[in-house]
Amino acid sequence: MRWSQYFLPTLREDPKDAESVSHRLMVRAGLIRRLGSGAYSYLPFGLAALQKAAAIVREEMNRAGAQELLMPALQPLELWKATGRDKVLGEVLLRVKDRTGKEQVLGPTHEEVVTDLVKELQSHKQLPLTVYQIQTKFRDEPRPRGGVIRSKEFLMKDAYSFDADAEGLARSYQAMYDAYQRIFRRCGVQVLACEADPGAMGGDVSHEFMAPAPSGEDRVVRCGGCGYAANLEAAKCPAPPAPAGESPKPLETAMTPGQHTVEQVSRFLKVPPARLIKTLLYEVEGGDPVAVLVRGDHEVNETKLARVLGTPRFRLAAPATIERLSGAPVGFTGPVGLKGVRLLADHAAVQVANAVTGANRAEAHHVNVNPDRDFQASQTADLRLITPEDSCPSCRGRLELVTAIEAGHVFKLGTKYSQALGATVQLPSGQSQPMVMGCYGIGINRILAAVIEQRHDKDGIIWPPALAPFQVVISVLEPGSPEAARAGEEAQAALSAAGLETLLDDREQSPGSKLKDADLVGIPVQVVIGKVWKSERQLELVLRATKEKSRAAPEALVEGVHKLLDKAKLPQ
Ligand SMILES: [Zn+2]
Repeated sequence: MRWSQYFLPTLREDPKDAESVSHRLMVRAGLIRRLGSGAYSYLPFGLAALQKAAAIVREEMNRAGAQELLMPALQPLELWKATGRDKVLGEVLLRVKDRTGKEQVLGPTHEEVVTDLVKELQSHKQLPLTVYQIQTKFRDEPRPRGGVIRSKEFLMKDAYSFDADAEGLARSYQAMYDAYQRIFRRCGVQVLACEADPGAMGGDVSHEFMAPAPSGEDRVVRCGGCGYAANLEAAKCPAPPAPAGESPKPLETAMTPGQHTVEQVSRFLKVPPARLIKTLLYEVEGGDPVAVLVRGDHEVNETKLARVLGTPRFRLAAPATIERLSGAPVGFTGPVGLKGVRLLADHAAVQVANAVTGANRAEAHHVNVNPDRDFQASQTADLRLITPEDSCPSCRGRLELVTAIEAGHVFKLGTKYSQALGATVQLPSGQSQPMVMGCYGIGINRILAAVIEQRHDKDGIIWPPALAPFQVVISVLEPGSPEAARAGEEAQAALSAAGLETLLDDREQSPGSKLKDADLVGIPVQVVIGKVWKSERQLELVLRATKEKSRAAPEALVEGVHKLLDKAKLPQ
């Protein structure tokens, strides 16, 4: 390919709306252009990388025994009503009416469609079956961000497994889990396989493949000791060991005028936040209000709360409700004497002796509150977010908090969808039973974003050879000279004959801007036809990742390039 003919516009300036490195570089290096909120065009250079990522995904899916198919993006809303997920996804679901007035959905995922499709299967003998597709998905995100990291329209590989029993699902799940590890390794993306919450998908076991990146929107904890990794929302906080006995002191009331927050009360009463117990009131749809107790230095984990309550439909109580339930304004609620609410306590909250809590009256707190003596929690559970101060739930080692991009997610779904839609098979016993399902997604666009987040420097992208749209860029610095132009063409011919994809920069531009562009677009090996060629008839070879330079005579070019490509394949 000749750059002078290639639709690869580069920009010197960062786009104004870009917050993340990958977004900035994808626009500047001519991979994408924004059309509207959360919708991007892929230019040829970006599409080439996207297709390479998709090809790796496809190869590894096929290797794992999954079969490719293609389902419509346009889906009847009725199918979503049958599983109740029209409500679960709510506004995220993009709805359209066709000309007959029938309501349709632009598919954000395909559990409903694929389950409806496999109803044709009759017998356990036709299982296991894993199918997948690579297709455009739609989600009406409230806040599209990070360029292609969170967009309204994106390319996804989604796979679905069907088994006769839980043991079969465990095998299918493992096969996909292993395929994901191979996919990310081949694409040059570092990932942490994290324990995760299944959320809107349902089911009980799920793992997220998280690519550590400073501009990622997810937070995960990882343990350097045993390799435990989990999404912050899903990380377990085991009950801490019982503290050394501290004798309970008599309950007192302290006046705390104007002191509402943990920080204020802690400073005013000169006690550390860990000695406070926070009381948060929640209104639950169709149920009694609950009070959640966590230590002053901890935060409620609403994902865990949803599991304990058995519903995601709850919210923090409004100030008027708080006053009605506790008899005090916001900031003075406490568990002692609180009536008409269910008390749910985090494990760590009930271990604080002689604690400070709100007193359920304005401008006052209780001091020396002792759980069990002064109040009784109706249930104690893991209800809080893990913190970096916590120890690893698996080995008690030190935890590290990292931000990451979710690049893949695998779920054990069980029979949620097959039951709702009547997808059953006959077992050897003759009995009919819903198929046991798993689902497995990878955001192909996010593979590119994650690679760029993890592999770039101040000058631009550093592609791993597996995803690079071209392996070699040949920069002819003096294209006006017929000899230099011919040398560029000969180099391209030699490299192409060796099976390498090359981009020949034959544009009429200053040498400086050509070298800058070569760094920006990040092709792994650069061949420069410049001063050294003019004086010594030698080509300059540059490894983009390290800027390591070498020289080669034209007849040694192919060998020299192969050596550099081998180096570029090493983890950076
Ligand atoms: Zn550990």
